[in-house]
Order: sequence, then C-alpha cells, then structure tokens
Amino acid sequence: MSAPAWSYGAVLLAPVALTALLVSEGWPLMPAGLAATAVQVAALGWMELRFPRTPGRPFLRDRGALQDAAHGALLLLATKALEPVVGAAVPVLGPGIWPSAWSPFAQGLLYLALVDLLEYGRHRLMHTWAWLWPIHAIHHDIDALHASRKHRFHVGEALVRAALITAPVALLGAPVALATVQVLALNMVGYPAHASVDWRLPGWLHRALVTPDVHHLHHDSRRAVHDSNYGALLPVWDVLFGTFTEPSRRSVGRYGVEGPAPPPDLAGQLLYPLTALRRAVSMLATSRSPREPPP
Ligand SMILES: [Zn+2]
Repeated sequence: MSAPAWSYGAVLLAPVALTALLVSEGWPLMPAGLAATAVQVAALGWMELRFPRTPGRPFLRDRGALQDAAHGALLLLATKALEPVVGAAVPVLGPGIWPSAWSPFAQGLLYLALVDLLEYGRHRLMHTWAWLWPIHAIHHDIDALHASRKHRFHVGEALVRAALITAPVALLGAPVALATVQVLALNMVGYPAHASVDWRLPGWLHRALVTPDVHHLHHDSRRAVHDSNYGALLPVWDVLFGTFTEPSRRSVGRYGVEGPAPPPDLAGQLLYPLTALRRAVSMLATSRSPREPPP
C-alpha cells in the first residue's frame, strides 16, 4: 500500500515547524534541529514498516543501522573538529564579498543555493575521480536502502567537505550560523530521500526537490545509473549539467555497487580507502581503473 502523497509534505515540514517551536522556547538552533530530525527519523521508521517501498528491510529491522550510526557519529565528530581548523586556516576575503547587508532570509537562501552547488560538485567528483571513490563507496555499498543510510558516510568525507565546501564558503565570509541551517535542510530532505517508503509523488516534484524516487536511482548498483542524480537538496544542478536521470524513465534494479566493494565490518570499512589506495597504485602498472573488478 502506498503512503498518501500529503504525508511526504508532512515529514518535510513538520521538522521545520518543530524546530521553530523549540527555538521560540529558547533552545539553540542545532539541538532544536537535531531533536526535530530524531522525530522525523522515528516517523520514517514507522512509515517504512507501514508503507514499504520494496519488500526489503526497514531500518528498524536492520542490524546494519547500528553500523550506519557509528559512521554518522564519527563523521559528525570529525566535521565539528575540522570547522575551527578551517576557520583559522582560511583567510576571509575583504568586506563586501558576502552580502551581509541582505536580510537573514535572503542570506539563508543564497547560502543554501551556493552550498548545494558546491555539494553537487563534491559529490560528482567523488564518483568520477577514482582516487576519491573508495571513501564514498561506503555510502553506496548497501544491499537495502532505508532512512539510516542517510548518515552512513566514511569519516574521510569530512576532510573532502572541509576542503571543497567549508573552506570556500569561509573564504567568502559567510556567517558560521548558516552552516547549521544547511545541515538541518540536508537532514530534512535527505532522510525522506533515503527512506524506503512507497510514496507516489507528482512528476513535477522530482525536478523541484531531491525526492526519494530521484535519490533511490542514485543508489542503483549499475554505474551508468548511480553516476547521476548527485543533488543533495535541489535537482536543478543535475538538470543544468546533464546528470539528471528522470525517475519515470528508469527504475532501480539492485542497490549497492558493482565491482570492488568494501568489507562488511566497521574497522574494515574505515580502513578501506587505504587498502583501496594500495590496490589502485598496484593497478596503475596495468593501466586499469581502480573501479574495475580484478581479473
Ligand atoms: Zn553518491
């Protein structure tokens, strides 16, 4: 049975309303947003049981969700540790680069659009540059897609994000508080996008927002399919740069990755970029791509 389309709007907007309510009660923005995200994830967990997208494994019945949480916690710690380092290391360009005189709402919209574009570039680079793929492969090496995959990222992604997103934005002198807004926006859209909930959404929505139909295609095991739909919040970058796969024209075959895959245990996954690097260096002698399976 499909979930009613209005419930998709509800799981997107309810966290915004709850965050605003908690902030009005005196909560700092980040704890308020994370509390609202926890409520959203709990609701998605129930919806995955009630309206499963595919006969598969909802995250509340997946022991791998604990491993996802461990990856997410390490990524959060590393991101928070790197923020002051980047802030101290990157000089802010002269006054006037960031439009501080704009209203907070306009600055927020500019920040979201700019970081979403940078996020698109970072994500695409991690797919197409073989040296970065082993770090990102942890996010794709799954046999079932559900809400908790949203935070399954190798801790090394924090370094790549610091270099390609945090540093350029700091260079422009954007207010640090806007980074919190962007993280919360990514959560609001990203958890439903990964969730295994059977929503039947109107076609126009897939070009306005990264919907579950759009993002599930990004987790297809076939490289020709998963090397598309890189957008985090907005599909407009994929449409503009020719990497958009229309959900009405393709459907997901199998989730995961083809070719070399990370080991199943947490320690092996954390070490995987290093082991893959060693393998890639040895493959250079044979001029084969590190993403090709071994002979
Ligand atoms: Zn990806």
